[in-house]
Amino acid sequence: MEMNKEYDINIEKEIQKKWLEQKIYKFDDDEKRPPYIIDTPPPYPTGRMHLGHALNWTYMDIIARFKRMNNYDVLFPQGWDCHGLPTEVKVEEIHGITKTDIDRHEFRKLCIELTDENIEKMREQINSLGISIDWDREYITMSPEYVKKSQTAFVKMHKDNLVYRGKHPVNWCPRCQTAIAFAEVEYKDRKSYLNHIKFTYAEDENKYLEIATSRPELLAACVGIVVNPEDKRYEDVVGKTVKVPLFNHEVKVYPDKDVEMDFGTGVVMVCTFGDKTDVVWVNRHNLEVKEAITEKGELSEICGKYAGMTTEDAKKQIINDLKEEGYLIKQDPLEQNVGVCWRCKTPIEIIVGDQWFVNVKELLDMVEKATNEIKWTPEHMKTRLLQWIKDMGWDWCISRQRLFATPIPVWYCKDCGEVIVAKEEDLPIDPTKECPYTCKCGNKNLTPETDVLDTWMDSSITPMAITEWETNNEFFNKRYPVQLRPQGHDIIRTWAFYTIIKSIALTDKKPWDEIVINGMVFGEDGHKMSKSRGNVVEPFEITKDYGADALRLWASNSTIGNDVPFAWKEVDYGYRFLRKFWNASRFAKMNLDDETIETIKNSINDSKIKLIVGGNDVEISNPCNCVNVDNPVDLWILSKLNRLIENVSNDLENYKFNTVGDIEKFVWHDLCDNYIEMVKYRLYNKEDSEKAKISKFNAQYTLYTVITTVLKLMAPFTPHFSDIVGEIYKIDDLHGSWCKVDKNSISQENENDGEIAKNTIVSIRRYKSNKGMPLNAPLERVEIYTNNHDYEGLLKVVEDIKGTLNINELKIINGKPELEHKISEIIPNKSKIGPEFKKDSKKVMDFVKNADNETIEKILKDGFESEFGLLTKEHVKDVKRALFSGGEIVETVNIDGLIDSIAIIQ
Ligand SMILES: [Zn+2]
Ligand SMILES: [Zn+2]
Repeated sequence: MEMNKEYDINIEKEIQKKWLEQKIYKFDDDEKRPPYIIDTPPPYPTGRMHLGHALNWTYMDIIARFKRMNNYDVLFPQGWDCHGLPTEVKVEEIHGITKTDIDRHEFRKLCIELTDENIEKMREQINSLGISIDWDREYITMSPEYVKKSQTAFVKMHKDNLVYRGKHPVNWCPRCQTAIAFAEVEYKDRKSYLNHIKFTYAEDENKYLEIATSRPELLAACVGIVVNPEDKRYEDVVGKTVKVPLFNHEVKVYPDKDVEMDFGTGVVMVCTFGDKTDVVWVNRHNLEVKEAITEKGELSEICGKYAGMTTEDAKKQIINDLKEEGYLIKQDPLEQNVGVCWRCKTPIEIIVGDQWFVNVKELLDMVEKATNEIKWTPEHMKTRLLQWIKDMGWDWCISRQRLFATPIPVWYCKDCGEVIVAKEEDLPIDPTKECPYTCKCGNKNLTPETDVLDTWMDSSITPMAITEWETNNEFFNKRYPVQLRPQGHDIIRTWAFYTIIKSIALTDKKPWDEIVINGMVFGEDGHKMSKSRGNVVEPFEITKDYGADALRLWASNSTIGNDVPFAWKEVDYGYRFLRKFWNASRFAKMNLDDETIETIKNSINDSKIKLIVGGNDVEISNPCNCVNVDNPVDLWILSKLNRLIENVSNDLENYKFNTVGDIEKFVWHDLCDNYIEMVKYRLYNKEDSEKAKISKFNAQYTLYTVITTVLKLMAPFTPHFSDIVGEIYKIDDLHGSWCKVDKNSISQENENDGEIAKNTIVSIRRYKSNKGMPLNAPLERVEIYTNNHDYEGLLKVVEDIKGTLNINELKIINGKPELEHKISEIIPNKSKIGPEFKKDSKKVMDFVKNADNETIEKILKDGFESEFGLLTKEHVKDVKRALFSGGEIVETVNIDGLIDSIAIIQ
């Protein structure tokens, strides 16, 4: 089979179709091979895979393909994390409704429809990147099977007192109208004011305490004042009572070591709740809880005339009133770090309400232990999680006041206050649809829980779900924990943390052996990709012109864990590299007919091979594994090839995907630029001698070995390219077996010899090209003078230098050449000589032309009195000088990389 002239990216689609039809990525659950199970991230089905996904999926795919090629039984599933607010918002937008306009279940149905459509789009996008997913193992978190698992986890943890319902302060997004977990709070800088306010003493209204606060709108919920006990300024104040301005209730002053003395005035008002520290202080000093802010983010009825105002409006009004009544001393500008909702960026409030929690504190020690047992790449990412664990102050709030999510399988009895949790065998269940239970008090009319589960409750059991937890316990027990979790560094505190918690709570085991953390993709301008910046590049924009493999090469050429800036020029480089390798493979294939390929492949098992010489079969020893390859140039590339296999294998074991850069260099420079050029003369040799035939076969064998090995090394990175070319080269089991290192062929000496040939050839080829000569133009005679250092090496590669450069006679000489610059030609100035010497001019011309060295020097310098008259430099148009060696004119070429070596070309 011949290769097409041009590398055509459109073939990728056909290859992808073939892979899907043949299900070549199916997990076999094969007892004979070690399992390798990947806990693939389930993306949110937005309908669009972005470039960050493309990066992460390429990383995972490289790992999956590499492991498969190394005899692992790989389970590479794809999941979809369906539930959540963005879909609700999108549905409202598409249908022009709000979720309260229609029935809860109708609304959910619309969400499911949209999600199904989006998943279908994203499946295609994943396939279009050549990701080797086993689609038989797909999971969808909104499916009844998955909801059953999410709810089972809830019920089991409730039984173990690891899930509880309680009235606690929670982070609340007023816009999303739901509680969110601490891990979902982001921090943003905001400009604000620090308001210095007078709190008068209860005992003496003429004296006051100066308090600095950025949130005067919370005055109604002020329940105490704290000062640092070490603060000398306030020694006498502790224990006293002050009046809250505008609201006039009295609060006490408490000592607290956590008060920063140099912030504001060193006096802090405690409100329920301004921020996280307020919660700590309320607990520590046993303070009352006053709810000043409602779920809508408005001020509550305890705020008197401010009730119903938004926090922003109330803040303005209260500052005005403080000013008017003489309570406001001054306002200082303040750079503030405020918590915002991770989804909609609205500043969060801390409010108190009945919510469901996971008892995180109970599990932290075990979670920390598991975190340390897991191998992290890059390792420093582990500290992020350990620090998070260390700072963990709150339990995980898992109830959300949304619709499109896993229902919390719980009912309440309004008669006796009982909380009824569904039985495991009745799951999945939506309590708002049915209730198979009766309260122990006899009440059949139970009230369903309308809150739903945090979506992280779904996605935190992915490694358990893919190993069939609760549906196939034999399989689960055999295959859990799984081998790998790949994920982004932005969700270490959420997805990684929650998965470990759930795994510890439900299985007592770590969820995975290893976790590999990827970075984010930035735009070409170095900023996060965003529509408003206009720096977004979609994966399909890249694949339509450059193909999936070029995109994958860009992704591979990065460091795991680091953020990766996108660069078109790198995609372009990858594409040009593939074209270069395509052309080289095509050239090689033209010199490797199918019969020769068969002979080479068979020779791997036979100790002898047959070649036809002079019409007869000649049996020669098998040159495989370069035992009998004796050409120094072949040995050179085979040594470099095996070194490459060794390095790439090690790098891939350690997730150093940018090792592909070494493969690219090898192909581009060693193979294409040099090796192929250095063996052409052997491939083209039509001589019918045993020596020529063997030499040609060895070149073919080496070329075949190098190309097919590189195709395998590249299969994890550029699977389409390797598949297409691999088929033409008849590679068996391309995606199922890795390359073995032949340690015997790694030899520094062989590499040095090959480098000598390469450097010499490169230097003399450059000479030819500077002279405008065709590269195969014959050179009559070349002498290479060299020192002892390279002499022996050059002797070994005489044939290759001669053959490649088409040199008729090549001499290697140990020593320095004797070279001298001499005059080679004198051109008389005819236009001066003619008019001056008239009838003698011909003789004068000859005289000048043939002047000896001494004479011409005189003519040029002071002038020379000849028989025809005075001759000066004006009579000479030009004097050409040349390099002479042994009386002959020669040219010289300095040879790169060799010490004091010079080629003399005649
Ligand atoms: Zn929000
Ligand atoms: Zn009851």
